[in-house]
Amino acid sequence: MTPSEPLAAGSAAPPSDVYDVALLDLDGVVYVGPEAVPGVPDALAAARTAGMRLGFVTNNAARTPDEVAHHLTELGVPAAADDVITSSQAAATVVAGLLAPGARVLPVGGPGVAAALTAAGLVVVDRAEDEPAAVVQGYGPGVGWVQLAEAIVAIRNGARHVATNLDATIPSPRGPLPGNGAMVRVVTDVTGQAPLVTGKPDPAMHAECVRRTGARRPLVVGDRLDTDIEGARRAGAASLLVFSGVTDPATLLAARPDHRPDLLSADAAGLLTPHPAVVAEGQGRRCRSWTARPAEADDVLVLEADGPEDEGDGDELDGLRALCVAHWARHPADGAPARIVPRGERAAAGLERWGLVPDGTAA
Ligand SMILES: [Mg+2]
Repeated sequence: MTPSEPLAAGSAAPPSDVYDVALLDLDGVVYVGPEAVPGVPDALAAARTAGMRLGFVTNNAARTPDEVAHHLTELGVPAAADDVITSSQAAATVVAGLLAPGARVLPVGGPGVAAALTAAGLVVVDRAEDEPAAVVQGYGPGVGWVQLAEAIVAIRNGARHVATNLDATIPSPRGPLPGNGAMVRVVTDVTGQAPLVTGKPDPAMHAECVRRTGARRPLVVGDRLDTDIEGARRAGAASLLVFSGVTDPATLLAARPDHRPDLLSADAAGLLTPHPAVVAEGQGRRCRSWTARPAEADDVLVLEADGPEDEGDGDELDGLRALCVAHWARHPADGAPARIVPRGERAAAGLERWGLVPDGTAA
């Protein structure tokens, strides 16, 4: 279902006309912290007007689907609890399948974790002495040493360690902050045991959202490569990477094959615009007026823009699209860092805009 070469095909029509359901990640896509990503509520309303349906698929385990739906509705993205799938629900489903009904489970995380476990017919306890059969660990901004210590004792006593997700970071208005993956590592550093992980990139949540919505041609929209994009690939769905969250262009360029998206935009308003194709031109790749071609020697790409500025400004990503496809064509099987030489002022300005220095690492 996905184009064979990431980013190359683009989308001649706006994705909102091509795909029937958008499976939207939340943190870094719809909102960052409490606030909506500017323009995104209006863009999602326009996508709905165009006939696209929306499902919300979040690795953030802190809140219940009801609370998430309420927050979305407040931000101008009307949603019902059934439109939201959290990694807490995915973890609860998996744990309920592993354990007998009424089994005791110790939750670590926000209220969403305990609520999902209770809804799945499990009994929530808060002490290792209650002999839980599993510890389910999800994100919660109130998680501290006391909860982590309790989880470690329970796991050492034989409880199964289940993590809702391993996102190392969570986007915030102050930049990336510790996500559940960072807190899970505190536990695993002590226990020495790897957890069972149930959220994205496991395809179960995307598959459940497809089942609920009856999507025939879903598009996953996300800001993380190792959860959203990898999860989309595993679910056989197309993907749109947005730069409103934790991924920057340097990280995208160095992405390994299963982390490479089909489409790229600054934010979720990219649902409403066509995406230019990237075509082969000799040994290089062209996206509208931008080309990225191999240099004579070494593993270097020369980036250049010719002709008039591209129409539809606001989309300033064409050169990055050309760079990604050219770099990935030379590195089909790995995530080597790109080395880039700009030619001309537009190319130099492009690299600066994307936070790249000429060797392709982060500025
Ligand atoms: Mg995200």
